[in-house]
Amino acid sequence: MSFAEVRVPTVFKKSQYLRLDVGEHTLRILDENATATDTHYVISRGGRATIKCLGEDCPICAINNQLKLEHPSTFRNAQGYSPISRRHSFNVLDRTEAKICPKCQSVTKPRGGKFPSTCPECGSFISDVETAPVNKVFLVTISDAVAKDINRISKLYLDKDREPIPLTSYDVTISVEQGTKGREMTVIAQPQRNDEVTVEEELFDPTTAITALSKEEIVEFMRGISIRDIYMARNKKDDVGATSKKEENKVAEVSKEAEDMINKLFGE
Ligand SMILES: [Zn+2]
Ligand SMILES: [Zn+2]
Repeated sequence: MSFAEVRVPTVFKKSQYLRLDVGEHTLRILDENATATDTHYVISRGGRATIKCLGEDCPICAINNQLKLEHPSTFRNAQGYSPISRRHSFNVLDRTEAKICPKCQSVTKPRGGKFPSTCPECGSFISDVETAPVNKVFLVTISDAVAKDINRISKLYLDKDREPIPLTSYDVTISVEQGTKGREMTVIAQPQRNDEVTVEEELFDPTTAITALSKEEIVEFMRGISIRDIYMARNKKDDVGATSKKEENKVAEVSKEAEDMINKLFGE
């Protein structure tokens, strides 16, 4: 170990991602538009990850096309087939009335309007804990289906001139339930919760919400190298001065914790 190996991880502000766990999440959308990204959900020996599609240059699309040729009617079930799925990322202010565990500080959100009597993380009793709004900014990423639901809602509420009221001026609740095929999400508009919110914090960059790898790195991931190791390799390159500032930002953002969380977020 030498001093030269010590790295300062955060020059840029690390993005905080909202985990859409089972429960009710009451959010104020802060971005007027969501950032859409075509992604692939890839399961390899290197782990599971949602990765940005590289378009024409995308090795995952190349495999998909190959599988379509080889198995014209059954490619969807073929091992390694990973269709493009569009994801939408944006900043929200989490306004959920939640309980914060006095022992482990983890946040418990209501399920069906009710709270469990004990903290799901550490088992401490939380029945006497008062609820309080989370009141923090997060980046959230949702599926195309949920985005369509939000879009549909955004046209329902009209002002005096019969113009849609901007989505950023009232709260929406995303209710997450565990279905048989994964998490199911229902969007509920809360047009009565239309107080003005002021956000002092800086917003996160929604274009960084999805893991972006180079063509070579995607191939490495599919061969079984973990995203973490891929980022560490980038980090090393950076020591030689070969990586740009933008990549440095990404390196700073990724930790094992973030990787696990991204898996959770997109494994719905
Ligand atoms: Zn692709
Ligand atoms: Zn706890």
